[in-house]
Amino acid sequence: MVQFSGGCMCGAIRYAVSGEIVRMVNCHCDDCRKNTGAAFATNLFFDEKDVKVTAGETRSFEHTSDAGNRKIKEFCPTCGSQLFSSTIGRPLKSIKVGSIDDASFVKPTANLYCKRALPFSHIAEETKNFDEMPT
Ligand SMILES: [Zn+2]
Ligand SMILES: [Zn+2]
Repeated sequence: MVQFSGGCMCGAIRYAVSGEIVRMVNCHCDDCRKNTGAAFATNLFFDEKDVKVTAGETRSFEHTSDAGNRKIKEFCPTCGSQLFSSTIGRPLKSIKVGSIDDASFVKPTANLYCKRALPFSHIAEETKNFDEMPT
């Protein structure tokens, strides 16, 4: 059980989380790279009911993942910070680690899409590492 707060860069969107972490992963897929503008994304997954937006309203963008799922990305309409992602039909929401106010508790347990990782991205040996998305 963890409790934390977070928000976007400009401060218009704030959120609070209280619940069990379902999983905590680094994802090196193309979508995560484009979405975050970073070399890879670190995503924390929660039951969607554990994530509450406490200020502002996100905007969303819908796309199809390469596994064929319809996904929704949520971001701040003012500053563009990426905050959440979810898959239509699944009750989980993932949170981008960079939006968390104090993310010092975060320890990713896996790396996904390692075969697409940029050459300079360090993949820890103590995590579970998958070439693609594990089924
Ligand atoms: Zn913002
Ligand atoms: Zn990804």
